Amino acid sequence: MERNQIAQKHQWNVQDIFTDDEAWETEFSALQASCSFTQYKGKLSEKPVLLDFFEKDANFSLRAEKLYLYASMRHDEDVRVDKYLSYLSQIQLLFTEYASQISFFEPELLSLPEATLQAWIKDKDFADYDYFLRRMSEQKSHVLSENEEKILALASQPLGGFHDVFSMLDNADLPLPMVKFNGEKTQLTHATYGLIMHSGTRKERKACFQAYYKAYESLLNTITATYTGNVQKDVFYKTARGYESCLAMALFGEDVPPAVYNRLIQSVHKALPALHKYIRIRKDILKLKQQHMYDLSLPLVEEADVKLPYEEAYQKVVEGLAPLGEEYQALLRRAYNERWIDVYENTGKRSGAYSTGVYGTHPYVLLNYQPTTHELFTIAHEMGHSIHTYFSNAAQPYAKSSYTIFLAEIASTVNEVLLLKYMYKTTQDTKLKKFLLNYYIDMFRTTLFRQTQFSEFEEIVHQKAEQGQPLTKELLCDTYHALNKRYYGRGITHDREISYEWARIPHFYRSFYVYKYATGIISAVSIVKRIESEGTPAVQDYFNFLRSGNKTCPVDILKQAGVDLTTPQPFDTAMEEFKNTLAEFEALTKEEK
Ligand SMILES: [Zn+2]
Repeated sequence: MERNQIAQKHQWNVQDIFTDDEAWETEFSALQASCSFTQYKGKLSEKPVLLDFFEKDANFSLRAEKLYLYASMRHDEDVRVDKYLSYLSQIQLLFTEYASQISFFEPELLSLPEATLQAWIKDKDFADYDYFLRRMSEQKSHVLSENEEKILALASQPLGGFHDVFSMLDNADLPLPMVKFNGEKTQLTHATYGLIMHSGTRKERKACFQAYYKAYESLLNTITATYTGNVQKDVFYKTARGYESCLAMALFGEDVPPAVYNRLIQSVHKALPALHKYIRIRKDILKLKQQHMYDLSLPLVEEADVKLPYEEAYQKVVEGLAPLGEEYQALLRRAYNERWIDVYENTGKRSGAYSTGVYGTHPYVLLNYQPTTHELFTIAHEMGHSIHTYFSNAAQPYAKSSYTIFLAEIASTVNEVLLLKYMYKTTQDTKLKKFLLNYYIDMFRTTLFRQTQFSEFEEIVHQKAEQGQPLTKELLCDTYHALNKRYYGRGITHDREISYEWARIPHFYRSFYVYKYATGIISAVSIVKRIESEGTPAVQDYFNFLRSGNKTCPVDILKQAGVDLTTPQPFDTAMEEFKNTLAEFEALTKEEK
């Protein structure tokens, strides 16, 4: 379908950012002309100059973000239109110019006496920047001399290329063959792999699994060299900047205490018997003599898809989120009425779903809605991001408005879990009940257990590199294979192919990124459990969390919602929830027999 055939009420209202392209172009020229920051250079030790810089800088970035958002949203509406691609490259050039104009800023600020920074952190005039200044002061011990910093800056581009190399291998050079699916010959791609694992016959899944990993095996020497390079890059920065370990450097960057990470690993280890039990239950239900990794994505319950037209699906989300109260539901209705959401697929539209936004304008959501249960949850998920953005933007100054990645997946998961529980409670259909429980269990398996397994792999590999051990392909494959055995237990036949799984994970080129998915679901489940048991006061605490942007360190922001990741409680709560869901699922399955 072409975009102009879609009803206006189902298209997002980009005019809330710029009335038209002409307004965008006028603003772009004006902003481009104002891009000069060098007048502040060498003068940041004077308080009025720094205040003035902050104000001008915030103003500039906000205007640039607005220009970027409009261009990228117009581009996503129909990627075939060249005009917005050219808008995007214009704005990217302006960002580059801006970055080079302000490159003096951080080094100069870091060179100021500690006493000055400390005084400003407490100074009310810098209230919007106190957390930023505190972080700067904490970084000081890891900053090198001016000349050394220059060399590090020069090295950043050549050292930053490993992800690109892997991406080329993975998307252009990987020799994926034809496979059989639905009885027909199909080109194997990353997308069809997922599809076949989910709905192919056993024979098709097995052949596809073997073919997929054979392709990675054929590039294993190159991928090992690429990944090793990426790990050694981390070791280089860690050593140059004087961190205890690569993991410590990553956690420091997010302002997350190492204890949080260690607790995650410990509590997941403790809960592994529950995951093993789930694997055994699967084996029984699927009546398999041997269960392989290629059997794991197969749904345990026959499709019990809730096929709702968009209007009804949206209404279902609003109803399901009733525990969050009238204010939250009113915002959801507002989003619908004010056209924050671009609903349907059209020719040329970007695929998938996301939430986006810029300070001063309401958030936006892109969907490609199809009537399935998965897409119903996508609405709840993306609206979770959007309303988090909305609350933070409304409550915080611009400088403190954007929440960090550590906190980013919590609100979206809270919404999914609340909707799931609502649907579970309001249906009598056992098939749907089982489908929903299985969906929930798989959320735990893929977001909590699997991502923690990835994280542990990264940790072990980085430690070995730090100790000077060569990272051979045997070492990487053996490490991964051993972890896979530990996580999935004896209910799985661990084929040789699974040793290569590490070689296909793009996230490994952003080291220590994935553990945040695990802490995200743990936090979200804890929040939902508190809302269930305490009602309104817990919701108010949760809203305070949503309103916090990045005003301080993420763990303290989370404490406002009653989740203290420095204690065992949220971890125990989440694991308990996993075990209870599993028990409920088992009981429902037995009942039916
Ligand atoms: Zn998300």
